[in-house]
Order: sequence, then C-alpha cells, then structure tokens
Amino acid sequence: MKSINAFILSTILVLSASCSSLDSVKRNEAPAREYQVGAYLWFQTSGEYRALCYQAYNLARLRLDRDLENKHNRKRALIFDIDETVLDNSFSGAQEIQNQIGWDQENFNLWVKQKAAEAIPGAKEFIEYAVSRRVEVIYISNRLAIQKDDTLENLKRLGIPAKKENLYFLNNDWSKEERRLEILKKYDVVMFFGDNLGDFHKDWDNKTSDERRALVDSHHLDFGEKFIVLPNPLYGDWEKALPKSKKRADLLKTVL
Ligand SMILES: [Mg+2]
Repeated sequence: MKSINAFILSTILVLSASCSSLDSVKRNEAPAREYQVGAYLWFQTSGEYRALCYQAYNLARLRLDRDLENKHNRKRALIFDIDETVLDNSFSGAQEIQNQIGWDQENFNLWVKQKAAEAIPGAKEFIEYAVSRRVEVIYISNRLAIQKDDTLENLKRLGIPAKKENLYFLNNDWSKEERRLEILKKYDVVMFFGDNLGDFHKDWDNKTSDERRALVDSHHLDFGEKFIVLPNPLYGDWEKALPKSKKRADLLKTVL
C-alpha cells in the first residue's frame, strides 16, 4: 500500500509540474483527467474510503442474515458488479494519469491480463460468507467476454469465490438490464452490489445528471436494502455532467 501511496503522490507532483508548463491551448485541454487526481488520492490513501466499503459490506451482511430467516421457493442469489465493487483497478487508472493518457479499452485489457487487481475492502469476507450460507454469487460486469478467464484467475488469486458460469460479461448491450432479467428468471435476488447506478436498475441507463439524482431520491428506500452502493469517485456515469467528458480521452491524445 505504501508504494501505491508514493505512486499516487508522485502522480500529483508530475501533474502539477506539467500543468504549469502548458501553453494556453493545452491548459484548456490537459485538465481532462486532472479532476480525478484528488479522487485517486482519496480512493487509494484515505481511511474513510476503506471504512465506507466495510460499512457497505457489513450492512449487506445484516441484510442477508435477516433474509436468511425467510423461506424462498427458489435459490437465493446476490448480483455483484466487479470493477470498483469487488476488484480495485485504481492502480491502472493512476498509471494512466501519470502518463497523461485517457482511458481506453486497450490499456484496460492489458491491465486485466495482469490479473493484478486487489480486492475492495470487505468484499472477499462477505462473498465467502454468502457462499457458506448457500447463496448463489453472480457477477454482471461490462468486462469483455474474452476476459472471463483472466478475471476468474484474479478473483481466485484473492480467494474471492466465483464460478465461470456465473460471470455475465458484456454482450451487445452496455446496459446490464437484459442480463439482470435473465438471472431474475432463475433466482430470488436478495441484493445488488455496485458502484454505478446502472448496476442496480435500468432506470438509470442513459439519463442526465438531474434525472439520475431525482431517481435516486425516488428509490431512496432501496439503498441499504436491496441496492448496496460502493464508493467510487474515480469514474462513472456521473462524469457525463463534465463538459467535454465524452471526448476527454481523445483530447488528451491530441496534446501528447
Ligand atoms: Mg463498477
């Protein structure tokens, strides 16, 4: 962890130095990822981040224990997102920032191949507990289908239970709704775990920031009940509120 801390702190220094030397055009474009530096610092170094993760998984355990007192006709299941819900990819993102490049699928593919992601605090213990109580653990992720084996190996290296047949990775649709409905046909899903609102319900797919926040308010009783949210200030659909955010990777490429 210390080496990661040193890495992110050096990232900030590098960014500060590079920003001060940018000409006026670059100053307009280069901050495309600068807003993320504080988020990476908080994510990788703060105790508060870890505490929030433990809080989410501790609450989930209370909620699961309550459900285990009830009878179900079908097998119970839990649905997890993977990235920044179970696996921590922040090292890869911090490297991109240090190298002043935007996110792209190719970089992420190389990262997945390394199988080097660490576990989100509390995830392993909670998932192990759920499996010990005969609950089916299912992952819906927008990682690519060809990344199933590497992801499985990464999870296994960390001791996080996972079965290949329970990995629902990206098909043709970025929305997770179709995959959720497929699972809901077979199981009684007790809770959904995610760091992005699209991990919970289709209501949040392709919505503006105002609509997303209003929908959170209208679903407020579901949070901590069937929707368990993990903190992720690094990236997410909320970034659509940022000007030019959709083009930030392209913009960065033009200045490098
Ligand atoms: Mg995620």
